[in-house]
This record gives sequence, C-alpha cells and structure tokens, in this order.
Amino acid sequence: MVLLDRSTLMVVFAVMTLTMLVLFYFDTYRKNRAPFAGWWCGAVATFFLAAVFYFLGEVQDVAWAPSLGNGVMVLGSGCVWAGTRSLASRRVRPGLLAVPATAAVAIDATVRYSDNARFGSIVLLALMGTAIGLASIELWRVRAESWHLVRSLAFATAGCAVYYLSRMAGLALLGPEDPLFQVLFGTGVTLLMAMVLLVVVSSSITSLNHTRRTEDLQELASRDGLTGLLNRGEFMHQAQRRLRATLAAGGGAAIVMADLDRFKAINDRFGHDAGDGVIRAFAEACRSALRDGDLVGRYGGEEFALLLDGVDAEEGVRIADRINAALAEHSSLPDGVGAPTASFGVVDARGRNAGLPRLLREADQALYVAKAAGRNRAVIGFAPAGNQAP
Ligand code: GH3
Ligand code: MG
Ligand code: MG
Repeated sequence: MVLLDRSTLMVVFAVMTLTMLVLFYFDTYRKNRAPFAGWWCGAVATFFLAAVFYFLGEVQDVAWAPSLGNGVMVLGSGCVWAGTRSLASRRVRPGLLAVPATAAVAIDATVRYSDNARFGSIVLLALMGTAIGLASIELWRVRAESWHLVRSLAFATAGCAVYYLSRMAGLALLGPEDPLFQVLFGTGVTLLMAMVLLVVVSSSITSLNHTRRTEDLQELASRDGLTGLLNRGEFMHQAQRRLRATLAAGGGAAIVMADLDRFKAINDRFGHDAGDGVIRAFAEACRSALRDGDLVGRYGGEEFALLLDGVDAEEGVRIADRINAALAEHSSLPDGVGAPTASFGVVDARGRNAGLPRLLREADQALYVAKAAGRNRAVIGFAPAGNQAP
C-alpha cells in the first residue's frame, strides 16, 4: 500500500478544494446566486485557505500558520451551518461566525508550543463537530419538495459531525501518538473524509440548486404575470385533475366563469393602469373569498375561471357575491366612482358526466345571461336536457 505523507495529502486537499471552488462558483453559484450556494462557496474557500495554512506550517515551519488554519476551518464549518440555516429560511448573523473562529486561533496559538498542545486541536474539533452537527439538525428541519436531497445532505453532515466529535474524544482519551488513534483518526483518514464530504455536499447542493431553479421556472410558467393567479393552461390542468378526483370520491364542485362589468369604460375613463389595478383587485378579492381546495385562474383579459370544491351552485352564488363585496373593498378607483363589479355564471358539477370544457361553456352561457340581466350578479346555469348523469 502506498502511504502518502501529510504534506502530499495537504497539497492534494488544497488542489481539490480550489478546483471544486472554481467549478462550484461558475457552474452552480453564478446561475442563481442562491444564499445557501453562496455560503457553501465561502466554506470551500476557507477549507482551501486552511489547507494552505497547514501546508505552510508543515513544510515551511511558519509558526503562526497552523493556528490560523484552525481558525479558518472553524469559520468554514460555521459557513456550512449558516448555509443550512438560509436553506431553512432562517436568519443568519454572519458576524457571529467570527467569534468561535477567533477563539480557535487564540486558544491554539496559546497552547501550541506547550505541553498541552493537543488542547488546541480538541477545541478545533469540538467547534467543527458542533457547527456541522447544528447544520445537520437544520437540514432535518427543512421540509422542501426536493427533500431526499436535503436528507442525504443531513446524513452526510451528521456522519461528519460524529466523526469530528469522535476524533476529539480519541485525541483527549488516547492522545495523538496512540496507534488506534492513528488508524481511526490519523491525518490521512481525516483529510480523505473531508474530501468525500466536499464531493458529496457540492454535488448535492448543485442538484438542489438545479431542482430549485426548475421549480421556480415551473412556478413562473404556470402563473399569470399581472395577478399571480394560475394562467389558463395551468388552471385547466389543475382543475381537470381536481374535478375528476372530487367527482370520483362522490363529492361536488361548482364551476364558475367571471367577467368584469363594463371594464372597457374603466380603461377608457381612468387609463390602462387603473384597469390593471381593478384586475389585480379582482384577483385579491378571489384570494380572500376562496378556501384552500378552490382554484382560480385568469382565463383571458378580464375573464376568470373558478373551481369551488365541495360546493353546490347556490353556495357558488353566495361566494360570487362575497367576491364582489371584496372587490369593492380592494379596488382603488377614485372616490365617488361606483365600485367595479363582476358578473358570474355558475354551474353545478355534481352528478354530471361532462368534462371541464363543457362545464366552462355552460358557465359562460350563464354569464351572458347575468350580463343581459343587468350585470353585478351571479346566475346559475342548468345542464341542457339529456346531459344529466343517470
Ligand atoms: P361587459 O360588462 O359586457 O363585460 O363589458 P366590458 O367592457 O367589460 O367588455 P369588453 O369585453 O368589451 O371589454 C373588455 C376590455 O378589457 C377590452 C380590453 O381592452 C380590456 N382588457 C383586456 N385585458 C386587459 C388587461 O390586461 N389590462 C387592461 N387594463 N385591460 C384589459
Ligand atoms: Mg367585461
Ligand atoms: Mg370580457
């Protein structure tokens, strides 16, 4: 077996961290500058710096370098912890990370050339083990969609924390020259562990970043830019699925088409921006009037489609009235102008064999009736004869 000496391993570690830093920075971090990826960049950069300091201490006999290396390692572990906190959307105070790092440098510099030299390493390992253990706990708390990636990161960091804390116990109980300590926790093993961790964490974070970007893009592609409501395609997709599941479970739902009243006049009188404001106010009104299981989409310019889960047509009419009341509240047209209103066509989906497009057509016909009857109202559409389910 080829045994690599400490200084060779340190060079390998330094080259590896630097390569990883460059690859990670350009290939992952720069793509969307996610805070957790930024913290990981910081961590890898500090591990590289630490490798340089340890190398200077080992090969060049620079007296202060190893203590500084310890401090930078603690700082890097703190960056890992901070990154996991930002992943869990929790607050991070960067200044706080300097405290344990400074303590690690000060303690190691004080004891390094005394009989208690190993105390500096014990403090280093305790701080690193704690920071990475805390990172693992943060990761267990994350409830993201891509949770399997987060879980694998949680496992990797937990394993690493256990290793550092065991190495600390080994150092305290056995001492650095003990053969068992050398086999389990020698410099070579420790550096190899660190390299494996770097690869695992970097590739997990790259995948996580990719998944998040894809989710963000999917979210963007499914929403209407002006209102944030589902766009027409996404509404159809989600509503079709929801309707099928609800009807199969023996439940009911109301399908509603809504259209703002005399909207062209609002545009003509107050300008296009004011018109946009009314469209947004309608979206807001829908959000405040609907419940979790309901769906609402912007179907066209000032037309909206709704699926009201577990609701019959009469209840659908009451909800439409509530939306109109909320629209009056949310709208910011000048005082003295009558509040904007909308008309609604409502159909009951329960017991029907019709698909969503047909129900929407029927709701649209009912909407025309509501317009003809004077607007600012909801009208229930009835299934054409022969269209009722047996
Ligand atoms: P009715 O009560 O019969 O529905 O009358 P209306 O004026 O609302 O109906 P019409 O369909 O004639 O007018 C709709 C207008 O909505 C025409 C179009 O310029 C405007 N519009 C469509 N999309 C947008 C938008 O995104 N922003 C604004 N400000 N106006 C829009
Ligand atoms: Mg209209
Ligand atoms: Mg219209």
